[in-house]
Amino acid sequence: MAINDKTLEDKLTKVRHQLHQHPELSNQEHQTTLFLNSYLETLGYHIVTPQKLLTGVIAEIGPSESNVIIGLRSDIDALPIAEKTGLNYASVNEGIMHACGHDFHMASLLGAAELLADQANKLTGRVRLIFQPAEEIHVGAQAVAEAGGIKNLNAIIGFHNKPDLKVNEIGILSGGLMAAVDQFKVTFRGQGTHAAMPQLGNDPIVALTSTVNTLQTVVSRKTDPQSPVVVSVTHIDGGSTWNVLPDVAWFEGTVRSFDLASRQLAREQFYQIVNGQAATFGLAVDISWIEGPNVVNNDSELTPIVIEETKQHAKLLTPKPSNAGEDFSYFSQKVPSVFAFIGSAGTTDWHHDDLIIDDRGLLPAARWYFYTANRLLAHFSGTTTNDR
Ligand SMILES: [Zn+2]
Ligand SMILES: [Zn+2]
Repeated sequence: MAINDKTLEDKLTKVRHQLHQHPELSNQEHQTTLFLNSYLETLGYHIVTPQKLLTGVIAEIGPSESNVIIGLRSDIDALPIAEKTGLNYASVNEGIMHACGHDFHMASLLGAAELLADQANKLTGRVRLIFQPAEEIHVGAQAVAEAGGIKNLNAIIGFHNKPDLKVNEIGILSGGLMAAVDQFKVTFRGQGTHAAMPQLGNDPIVALTSTVNTLQTVVSRKTDPQSPVVVSVTHIDGGSTWNVLPDVAWFEGTVRSFDLASRQLAREQFYQIVNGQAATFGLAVDISWIEGPNVVNNDSELTPIVIEETKQHAKLLTPKPSNAGEDFSYFSQKVPSVFAFIGSAGTTDWHHDDLIIDDRGLLPAARWYFYTANRLLAHFSGTTTNDR
């Protein structure tokens, strides 16, 4: 029996509030995992979570003899943020909040799970639901992949809620949707001395400020203006008082980019400038560079198919790519994928302690997973879609 939209929306709203109230940090999502497991078991899903995954759930539905499998992904972790929404379903876990809306993602995917279970005998292939841990620290997708969680998938889709999009608006584009993320820390080591006698030491602070300014030329003079890159120094530190020059000064920050060539070029230029500045000022320097997620890259063959399907059920937009990172990129490097932005009509942006998102966005998101899964099953199994 088909599920009534209103009934489903009410159910998903309750589910999201429950999840919102009990957020858990990356790789500690134990209660969330239990909740998802029991929900999916009740719907008749086959739980296939690899033993290696201590949190997160992977579950399948559809004809076991079919070789066509479409993956639907949601992340499940929350952030170390003290919630200030004042909602009656605000977090009861002190200092932890679903401030990125991963509760919204989970509830939507459970909604799709309901719709798929309802049509289970009509599915033309298998659908694998992937509730992935630890997105915020960018290690969960890789852990899922290494545990075998994306094995044999024909395609995988996912989305991030977008507070600045309205309910029922869905943004999809071919190519790079979310940025590659790099993180750096640079430490200059000189020799401290009395502030009044700089000639007796070797000042790391002047070298640091000169370097921070010169790094702005990476984007303005080196990388291709047609390919966006951001270099941000976000934190500097050195010294402890007004009349002493320190031994050490350091800064850290991040680089964002949308293609591999720009990513590599920005890194090379960064090293060249920092090492050059260290040589100019006669200082020792350490550069630590941490590669974060790659670009979330939407597959050029599948994206038009997903767009075509999405248009029939929601208001389609061409979104502005986001400079934020998303570890879904790990999946999109291995399996043809499409990632979307779905409207959650929020009061502010991701990672804010007062973000409130609109539950009316849940049903469109659940339906997007459901219809896209069916469309891609049809694409890969060479049949037409179910009547809807
Ligand atoms: Zn986030
Ligand atoms: Zn997020």
